[in-house]
Amino acid sequence: MAIQPTCKGCGQLIWGDYLNALGATWHPEHFTCAVCGRPINGTSFQVHQGDPCHFECFRERIAPRCAYCGKPLVGEYLVDQWGTRYCKEHQSQYPHCAYCGRLVPPQQQEQRNDGVRCPVCRSTAIETAEAAKPVFSQLIRWVGAQGLRYNNLPINLELCDRTKLAHYLGEHTPMHSLGATMSTTYMQAGRPLRTEVRGVAVLHGLPSTLFQGVTIHELGHVWLVVQGISNLPTWAEEGFCELLSYRYYSQLDTPEGRYHATAIERNPDPVYGEGFRRVRAIVDATGFPRFIESLQTTKRLPTV
Ligand SMILES: [Zn+2]
Ligand SMILES: [Zn+2]
Ligand SMILES: [Zn+2]
Ligand SMILES: [Zn+2]
Ligand SMILES: [Zn+2]
Repeated sequence: MAIQPTCKGCGQLIWGDYLNALGATWHPEHFTCAVCGRPINGTSFQVHQGDPCHFECFRERIAPRCAYCGKPLVGEYLVDQWGTRYCKEHQSQYPHCAYCGRLVPPQQQEQRNDGVRCPVCRSTAIETAEAAKPVFSQLIRWVGAQGLRYNNLPINLELCDRTKLAHYLGEHTPMHSLGATMSTTYMQAGRPLRTEVRGVAVLHGLPSTLFQGVTIHELGHVWLVVQGISNLPTWAEEGFCELLSYRYYSQLDTPEGRYHATAIERNPDPVYGEGFRRVRAIVDATGFPRFIESLQTTKRLPTV
């Protein structure tokens, strides 16, 4: 005696026509769409969380939407580091934000010297000295808590534009720099006699988290000057300042912090990226407090 099939939809025995789908048998009228409840007529359907649904219903009601054009995302689509989902074709249509890497569709683009800025970065941008001041005081406290002493030197912050920043940077620093240390070196007989540092200059309009990381990097340079540590090779000096920013970004424990920390870790630059990785290897071996103490007393990188 053949076993009578049971409908997975209603639980009753099936005496007439039935269909086989998703490893079960069904009354045709009970094989229904999980979205609209109507029978799925035809052989093709979408499965969503184990339940069948019409392609149309899936497309219109279930599928995620593209963050940029709002179209339902079915089939292949892209997700950026921030979790933003979007149609594949936008990758080649829109530029990336200069600060966070997000794609920026035309209607949201804001052109700046460094490239395009996205609305997310604009929403936290530090544009004025008033906005920067409380953040800066908090950064000074953070650096102090890392064991970096500035011998009560008053440190100023100046928000500036590209032209002014280029002036502070001089010739030998990469043009994509977002901050600079404001210092004057006094020369005697062609040799540097002493360096006086007034503070740090940071490009205005950076999103808040990036502003903080750039400022911390520059505060690293200021500390080296204040401590008279002037003979480090460039990779070691930049690597140390990057490490300071990296520590700051990591402890923020925010998506922005993680994004910028990862950018430092993966930076292919032979000075900044390689320098960071070499300095971090030393710090991993000595521990940060001992690293700082040793740098301060010997004026050179600890050997491990
Ligand atoms: Zn049934
Ligand atoms: Zn449906
Ligand atoms: Zn799209
Ligand atoms: Zn952005
Ligand atoms: Zn630097």
